[in-house]
Amino acid sequence: MTETLKAICLGCGQEGEWGRNPLDPPEATTVRTSLCNICDDGDFMEPCFFDANGKEILPSPLQTGEQQ
Ligand SMILES: [Zn+2]
Repeated sequence: MTETLKAICLGCGQEGEWGRNPLDPPEATTVRTSLCNICDDGDFMEPCFFDANGKEILPSPLQTGEQQ
């Protein structure tokens, strides 16, 4: 597991690094969110996580630990 994810700004596409949080999906490799100050309008935006295959990881209310 890497400690940082690739982050892509939803507004301008700028790429950066996202420090992994304990609650982030462990299989996530990329996160899309309002990354930079320019595109962050002050509202908290729910980040969207993607795995190594580019598949969006949808938030699940139940953490079963199943893979695929
Ligand atoms: Zn931006």
